[in-house]
This record gives sequence, structure tokens and C-alpha cells, in this order.
Amino acid sequence: MAERITGHTELIGLMAYPIRHSSSPAMHNEAFAYLGLDYAYLAFEVDNSTLEDAIKGLRALKMVGSNVSMPNKTVVGQYLDKLSPAAELCGAVNTIVNENGVLTGHITDGIGFMQSLKDNDIDVIGKKMTIAGAGGAATAIEIQAALDGVKEISIFNIHDKFWENAEATVKKINERTNCKATLYDLDDKEKLREEMADSYIFVNGTGVGMKPLEGMSVVPDKSFFRPELIVVDVPYSPLETKMRSMAKEVGCKTMNGLGMMLFQGAAAFKLWTGKDMPIEHMKEVLN
Ligand code: NAD
Repeated sequence: MAERITGHTELIGLMAYPIRHSSSPAMHNEAFAYLGLDYAYLAFEVDNSTLEDAIKGLRALKMVGSNVSMPNKTVVGQYLDKLSPAAELCGAVNTIVNENGVLTGHITDGIGFMQSLKDNDIDVIGKKMTIAGAGGAATAIEIQAALDGVKEISIFNIHDKFWENAEATVKKINERTNCKATLYDLDDKEKLREEMADSYIFVNGTGVGMKPLEGMSVVPDKSFFRPELIVVDVPYSPLETKMRSMAKEVGCKTMNGLGMMLFQGAAAFKLWTGKDMPIEHMKEVLN
């Protein structure tokens, strides 16, 4: 690091709290070093109470940009100059790009999800997706999938604090894209079975399967799966979940959430540097 950082090195941040556990600094700094790019990526403990000052600091220091994570994703938009169409529809930002003092907010989680499918030769465009979830990750996926040309999305969620968000997402997708979205109660298991039966892909975009909901599954049993269905988990810790092990038993192609994590970072990397992240190298390093 002492050899690499000079007076010319440009700064990219990550603003969130808590944040010390994040793998993003290691990922981006490894990619900068691998490609010989003169940037450094640092994590800053920023919550809602210090976010406005932190964004002013980003402008004053002429930082290249920043990632933003919880609890700032849905709050930071008001301090920026522009939003990408997906960030505007999601009401959330995870990447800020500073172009000559103009700050644009993007959301790359959905882009990362869609790219991770392509990376696995999965083509969802023009097809039907069933997805469980209405939180940050699921909303970003639903909006990006609709913008990219997925034909139909059936969204399932429990009646918790995210239900209203699901209703708003469905409304936005139906009004502003060519995709048809419908919301269902995740407790209606027969409806879930019906919607999964003619879907090309099923996505678990909830925290179910991850601590503290480890060992649980949004799909009750393996009779809901058929071998042609693609089954994707957004959680990635632990990497193996009950849902995907049931799907694998039936013969489904499955994916965990690591691809989405890597490709949301790659999309941000491209926005800041104009360069492609060295994906194959990063996969080796991250595994
Ligand atoms: P969130 O808190 O915004 O949303 C949580 C979602 O889980 C909501 O839809 C909620 O209704 C649902 N949920 C919670 N408890 C449930 C239960 N008992 N039964 C059914 N549904 C339940 O969280 P988020 O940020 O959207 O994250 C969701 C998961 O995705 C987490 O595991 C997170 O780590 C993971 N994630 C992965 C990536 C990636 O790049 N792979 C990115 C972001 C989040």
C-alpha cells in the first residue's frame, strides 16, 4: 500500500454503518492493483446522522465516488444531483459517481443480479420470474429485471413492514415498464406452487436461509420444484441453503448470491473507472 499510494491516487469510499465486516474494500483494491489503476477504496463509518456532511466531504475532496450501504441507501438520494432510472424507481442508491462535481446515484444490485445470470448462461429476457421478497435486494432485482425486459414477475412476500413497499414496486413496474408484475401473499402456498409451475426462474430475495433464519426455506418442500426451473438464492452466507439443496435434489440448476455480490461491485467499478473488473481473477480471489 505504501508503495502504491501517491499524491495522484484517487479516492473511492464506502459509507455505511456497521461496515467493518464488508468485503468490498478488499475486492475493489485487489481489482485496482491487478489492473494497475491508481485508485484506493476505503470504508467509512457513516450513518444517517453524518451522511449529509459525508456527501459534502465527497464533493469537497473531489472523490471519484462512493458505495453506500445500510442505513444510507434509501436516504442518500436527497443529497445528490441526479439519479439513474433504476435508482429512481427503487428509491435507493448503492453507488455514487462524481463527474466534475455532479453527483449521480445508481443502484447496481439489480444490474449485478442480471449480469450474474448471464455469466451462468441463464437468459430470463421475455420470460416469467417468480420471486420472494420486497426488501432492498429483492426490489432492486425486480426493478432491473422489469427494465431489462423480463416479461412477467410474480412477487411473493409475507404481510410484514415490507408489504407496502411490494405494492409500490408492483405499481411502478406496471406503470413504467413493459413487464407485468403481480403481488401475492407468501403464506398462500398453493398460489406459490401455481406461479412457480409456469416460471422460468424462482428467486429467493428474502433473508430466509441466512442467519438468523438459517435452515429455513421460503419454499415449503421439493414438490414445488421441477428440473427445468432455475433456482436462485440472494443470500450468500451460508453459501448452501435448505431451499437450494431441495432444488438440487430435484435436478434444478441453482445459484447462490455470490455472483450478484461480485457483479454489483463490477458494475460500480465500471461506473467509476470505465474499466471492466477482472472477473475471473476476482472469482479466484473471493473463493
Ligand atoms: P431487507 O431487510 O431489506 O428485506 C428482508 C426481506 O426478507 C423482506 O422481503 C422480508 O419480508 C423478508 N423476510 C424477513 N423475514 C422473513 C420470514 N421469516 N419469512 C419470509 N420472508 C421474510 O433485506 P435485504 O437487504 O433485501 O437482504 C435480503 C437478503 O439478501 C439478505 O440475506 C442479504 O444478505 C442478501 N443480500 C445479498 C446481496 C448480494 O449481492 N447477493 C445483496 C443484498 C442483500
